[in-house]
Amino acid sequence: MDRARDLFPGGVNSPVRAFGSVGGEPFVAARGEGARIWDVDGTEYIDYVLSWGPLVLGHAAPVVLNALRETMARGTSLGIPTELEVLLAERVQARMPHVEMLRFVSSGTEATMSARRVARAATGRDRFIKFDGCYHGHADSFLVRAGSGVATLGLPNSPGVPAALAALTLTATFNDASSVRALLEANAGAIAAIIVEPVVGNAGFIAPDPSFLPALRTLATEHGALLIFDEVMTGFRVAPGGAAALYGVTPDLVTLGKVIGGGLPVAAYGGRRDLMQRVAPSGPVYQAGTLSGNPMAMAAGIATLDALTADVHEGIALRTRALVEGLRGIAARRGVPFTADSAGSMFGFFFRQEPVRSFSDACTADVELFGRFFRAALARGVYLAPSAFEAGFVSAAHGDAEIALTLERLDAAMAEARH
Ligand code: PLP
Repeated sequence: MDRARDLFPGGVNSPVRAFGSVGGEPFVAARGEGARIWDVDGTEYIDYVLSWGPLVLGHAAPVVLNALRETMARGTSLGIPTELEVLLAERVQARMPHVEMLRFVSSGTEATMSARRVARAATGRDRFIKFDGCYHGHADSFLVRAGSGVATLGLPNSPGVPAALAALTLTATFNDASSVRALLEANAGAIAAIIVEPVVGNAGFIAPDPSFLPALRTLATEHGALLIFDEVMTGFRVAPGGAAALYGVTPDLVTLGKVIGGGLPVAAYGGRRDLMQRVAPSGPVYQAGTLSGNPMAMAAGIATLDALTADVHEGIALRTRALVEGLRGIAARRGVPFTADSAGSMFGFFFRQEPVRSFSDACTADVELFGRFFRAALARGVYLAPSAFEAGFVSAAHGDAEIALTLERLDAAMAEARH
């Protein structure tokens, strides 16, 4: 880490890895296998970060490694259409029929920024609505914090984001459709899209109220705006067909990432054919990528989706629920204010008694206690996301034994942390 700090800002190549909000030093990883990750000193951890979501089969899944070996022997990048792109796209479409056409890119950031470009081009409008606490990658005008009132224009929360761009971002409150309606009415005819994490993972785990996503669908249609589901995290995690299938709401555009690359850099945006046909070279909306549709990345995605059958998905979801129920029981026994929830293989918890429905609720949770719990868990060989505002993930490699061992260790961690 000393050498890394000299080379990289904060010693890392993506900020949350630095453990900034929980204290202590990140471990330096040497390898992963199944549900576990090892550091360079040989310490073993049960991993609930799983590379921030992609590794739904666990680390170094044999089916993924075999697909990579086989594909690699034919070249690492070909830069011209391959059959693998079609095979992965067909698998996405089989699970998400509303993805009539799509485009592969290499990161979630590219996917959301491109989907929004399509929405702006299709509607001829510049402004868009996002939700307080939702993260959609680091493209300039997504890096905007909520204003104090629902009608407040966004302020950039990173230097380097032009105020003029941030002003096009309007921020509403998750699980509050009236905040969206107010913005749509105050900006009549000016909103290109509403973009949402249908289950929030970047403010901690926050599930939508049953009426919230249907209300967004209705409001978007009424106001001529497009609805974009950012399923970079939820896609193939919350249900085999993602949040759109789980909640029965069809967005106009969807962004995917993480699981579709099986641990290699793949993301995608897609949706209605008439919208996607606006993308170059079919249409004028420009977007391109040197390594987009890279064969190794496609092969890892295909192997992952093929292994993630409905039964496998259900098994992971069951064990995720067992983990969450176990955590609730531990907190209750130890008298710690706690709320936890899951959808499919994605979960989260907050040190606060009442359920969390929005980012402002999340901000009232005890983050000091989270930091102590995180460090106590790590010291006992359980690697949780190093932030109170990140979701956790379970993989097919996390069996009943791993969940039981995790709960035993987290019970001890909770006992230490609550003091
Ligand atoms: N959208 C969501 C919902 C995400 O969780 C993330 C990353 O965590 C992104 C977009 C950005 O993806 P990437 O980090 O691949 O650019």
